[in-house]
Amino acid sequence: MKAIILAAGRGERLRPLTDTLPKPMIPIMKKPVLEYLILLCKNHGINEIAINTSYLPDKIKQYFGTGEKWGVKLYFSYEPEMLGTSGALNNFKDLLKDDDFFVIYGDSITDIDLTKFMKYHKSKGGIITTALRKKPISKPPASFLFTNSDLQVTKFVEKPSDELFHELCKEFYLSNSGLYVCSPKILNYIPKGFSDFAKDIFPHLLTIGERIYAFMIDEYYFREIGKIEKYELCKNELESKQFSLPYLKPEITKKQENFDFHENKAIFLDRDGVINENIYKVDGKIMSPATINQVKIIDNVKEGIQKFKEMGFRIIVITNQPGVAFGYVNENKLKEINEFLKKELKIDEIYCCPHHPRLTGECDCRKPKIGLIEKAKKDFKIDVKNSYFVGDSLSDIQTGQNAHVKKTFRIGIPRLDILELQHKAGIFPDFTSPNLIEVAEEIRKLGKK
Ligand SMILES: [Mg+2]
Repeated sequence: MKAIILAAGRGERLRPLTDTLPKPMIPIMKKPVLEYLILLCKNHGINEIAINTSYLPDKIKQYFGTGEKWGVKLYFSYEPEMLGTSGALNNFKDLLKDDDFFVIYGDSITDIDLTKFMKYHKSKGGIITTALRKKPISKPPASFLFTNSDLQVTKFVEKPSDELFHELCKEFYLSNSGLYVCSPKILNYIPKGFSDFAKDIFPHLLTIGERIYAFMIDEYYFREIGKIEKYELCKNELESKQFSLPYLKPEITKKQENFDFHENKAIFLDRDGVINENIYKVDGKIMSPATINQVKIIDNVKEGIQKFKEMGFRIIVITNQPGVAFGYVNENKLKEINEFLKKELKIDEIYCCPHHPRLTGECDCRKPKIGLIEKAKKDFKIDVKNSYFVGDSLSDIQTGQNAHVKKTFRIGIPRLDILELQHKAGIFPDFTSPNLIEVAEEIRKLGKK
């Protein structure tokens, strides 16, 4: 994947810091802001990055060189006169012409999940997808926008008057965050010379009926550093460890903990009985929750997942939901439950098999088959052999073994009937742990070996 990071800004509002440094080179924890963006890109498999420069270009080029040290390939352009946020793309037409690519304003620090962002853009199929945040009502911003219920952008408002702003926005407004995924087709709409995405390109695209979509980023860390107060805020938050950026972890853990870090490794979790409790029906039959009200998240799960994340794992849930085939669980309700769990527990994705062989015939996705793991592997480029499977049933353990994960964990207090089944079936987990926190501890030890 490719990205262009916009680094030409003079940084007037950051003076005197920018008297001798270009804006993207302003340091936070001894790293230039631009380095954070490059690390973010690298962490999501973006290996070719274009950077436009104008003010003090050599300071940027000397520090980053070819990008080899960060495992990326960098391409620089120089603009004697600034070309603007969209105009800058014209110098990289050849590089950007083949695939969807990111545009990232070089004066922000964020941990946005670019993998998800790209996937989302492709699923919507618009010409451009822009990262938006909800912001509380304050004085009128330079611009804001509106979307419909499908998150398609319907309107841009530039330089609104006080009255208009308060008339249009009551509780919050949608703010453009300077991060886009573009389809290469966008290059056809960028005129020669100076142009700006927000002022020139977006309004034009809306007029001619091209579709622009919004990707909401409220759940992520996002700070602009274009003004001194904002820069200080971001610096304080990161230095005080109020926020930590996941893509800085590999370096720290490698050095300080000698932890065996692999990019895109995952913890595969079963859902029912592992992250939320099963429902026991009156006749003792174990069921999955059928509505959000029936969902009870198991103690320690949130903390356990947090520990996995600190070690750099993605959290992927793989679950059989035959209740859908049986008509006991409604598909929309299931979606609601999963969205709730994803948000509440910061899970990257939940993959479900809604089938049951007796009713819907054989499928490839019902555990212990590995169709859903294969899908996750593709979507997130998961390195399965350095990933782990955690479940509460024998079929979970078998799934992990079928997919050749590194180790399998059975969770819960060992029950005699399950132990008996285990021996009968000859399926043994590598570890049995009472809860996810203990699993995380065990994995930490494994990583250190
Ligand atoms: Mg289960």
